[in-house]
Amino acid sequence: MSWIDTLETIEEFEDADFDAGLVAEMERAGLASRQRLVRFSTPTFKEYESSELQSCGKNSFPAFSITAGGCALMCDHCEARILEPMIPAVKPEHLDRKVRHLIETENLQGFLLSGGSNKRNEIRYSRFYPVVEKLKRDFPHLRIAIHTALTDEAGAKEMEAAGVDVAMLDIIGAEETIRDVYHLDRPVDDFEATVAALCSTSMQISPHIVIGLHYGRILGEENALDILSRHDTKALVLVVIMPFYAKPGTFATPDTAEVGRIFLEARRRLPDRQVLLGCARPPGMHKRVTDAYAVMAGLDGIAFPADGAVAVAGMTGRPFHQAHACCSIKLGENTASNSIATLAGSSCAA
Ligand code: SF4
Repeated sequence: MSWIDTLETIEEFEDADFDAGLVAEMERAGLASRQRLVRFSTPTFKEYESSELQSCGKNSFPAFSITAGGCALMCDHCEARILEPMIPAVKPEHLDRKVRHLIETENLQGFLLSGGSNKRNEIRYSRFYPVVEKLKRDFPHLRIAIHTALTDEAGAKEMEAAGVDVAMLDIIGAEETIRDVYHLDRPVDDFEATVAALCSTSMQISPHIVIGLHYGRILGEENALDILSRHDTKALVLVVIMPFYAKPGTFATPDTAEVGRIFLEARRRLPDRQVLLGCARPPGMHKRVTDAYAVMAGLDGIAFPADGAVAVAGMTGRPFHQAHACCSIKLGENTASNSIATLAGSSCAA
């Protein structure tokens, strides 16, 4: 039976609207990815449970914002709201105190360092690095991730020297998106230069592409994929814009088939990388269909998979594995297969 016919028999997709042409294309292209393991990560930042997979219920990888809720860019898709759930740590001593407390009380395994950016989409972390370095020295098991924002080689080396393990940033492939959505006067080349600078370090690089970032339209995604194909980043995290973070009426929800096409392009252009679907994407049936496309397109992992994803893995013949991790940084390990980071709600240019 063809995939499109099989999808109709899966209960979770009873009211789903799949693009038959795209599914057929994925089925043809899918021969190569059938034996690729698909990892279903169930991070623990929020309560999670689908009828097919369960959450493990611990919280050991929090995010800290060094600007609390402040951000000078106020991008249209975010308006600094991504910072709201983060733990504020505006002084290095706050970070130090809170991390040590969480290690004692909650078995902290690592953390994400983040914050709002300045008008140039940079975050001034330098004064926090001595604390990061000391924490890493005292607790070598800690895995430390950072939202790099835009940086240069000197900035990347500073992060590396402080002991940061994973560097995360959003890659934007269209000047219009940088100008209009980010209110930022910098070229696409600066994003590529940041990737190059980060790749000159030993940190794991976790680039994100936000599909539909241009007000819900597909615009710079393929260029962003091409940028990444020119650098050795090992992994890519794809997320889908969530219009409910933006002012009502400014962002459309991207069509699931358009999202699925980017998945297929990502798989084609980055055949040897880990390509993952991160946590951020619209909920409901949109998410079920999106996740099904992710499995059919051959992506390597899905965070918080929706109901139906396991059934689609079965349909495609792909083996799957459920990873109970706070994010898909596999804590305490450091191998090529887990040089991945997709933190809950973490996609941010900052
Ligand atoms: S995406 Fe990052 S830079 Fe843009 S408003 Fe949100 S926190 Fe600020």
